[in-house]
Amino acid sequence: MGERYIGRFAPSPTGPLHQGSLVAALASWLDARAHGGRWLVRIEDVDLPRCVPGMDVVILGQLEACGLVPDTPPVVQSQRSAIYQAALDQLVAAGLAYPCACSRKDIEIAAARTGRPRERNGELVYPGTCRHGLNGLPARAWRLDVASACADGAVVHWVDRRLGAQTQDVATEVGDFVLRRADGLWAYQLAVVVDDAAQGITHVVRGADLADNTPRQVVLQRALGLVTPIYLHTPLVLGDNGEKLSKQNGARAFDSAAPLDALTAAAAQLGLPGPPPALHASDDPIRAALSHWVTAWRALYNPTRE
Ligand code: GLU
Repeated sequence: MGERYIGRFAPSPTGPLHQGSLVAALASWLDARAHGGRWLVRIEDVDLPRCVPGMDVVILGQLEACGLVPDTPPVVQSQRSAIYQAALDQLVAAGLAYPCACSRKDIEIAAARTGRPRERNGELVYPGTCRHGLNGLPARAWRLDVASACADGAVVHWVDRRLGAQTQDVATEVGDFVLRRADGLWAYQLAVVVDDAAQGITHVVRGADLADNTPRQVVLQRALGLVTPIYLHTPLVLGDNGEKLSKQNGARAFDSAAPLDALTAAAAQLGLPGPPPALHASDDPIRAALSHWVTAWRALYNPTRE
């Protein structure tokens, strides 16, 4: 039987945690504690070329400095290829995934031919060129056949605990997305769905920049016969330039030498009050602040309302 609450924080070791990632880490930890559940950490290093060796250790150290310690040793995605392959095999056997021979250029040419190429986040929606065969070309990537995977239509309705009701038509807004990349690496969508299910994750709490991936993940969960967790996407933290903090735009590591300050800022970004008064008199100020925020979190996101 599954447990009532298992949550996770799933950093990619491409750089140290910045203030924005601390917000997501703190929120997922608080939600797990507010539910009396378990909190896991998963190192998401499937995109190996972007990962920095040793960064997983740095990230775990940053979390520990903030009193955020996972309940079991972290799992590491680069060691889990076999279960991603099994999931892809299952989709292929069910006729829901197909090999694709298209390069980026091929996709541009084919999309231009459709007369009305569709774009999303600056990426062309895949026009479906290889859906019915490779025409003798070598396979590069593997894609999900979204229309076949969604027998009842590809419009996904889901409810986020903070953002409320959400809708996305995965077939037209995203198209047949990649499961295994042309360079042989596993795509984030497949790895995250397989791991969330394998680890029995009941609640996903992560940054709002990932909210728009959720419908793709729901489609994959259904295609693989997996349970959909409950989602909460936390507010994004903007830098001084008004852009969201991200490793790509050079966000700095939060200062783990002053963990209480970083946590207090993260709590404020989550709409939680400041730390309790007389904190510094306490033996373990971080622990005292965290338990104060668990209570505040319960009031904000009352677990019993779900
Ligand atoms: N590894 C992803 C990131 O660091 C997070 C994935 C997730 O929480 O689903 O952005």
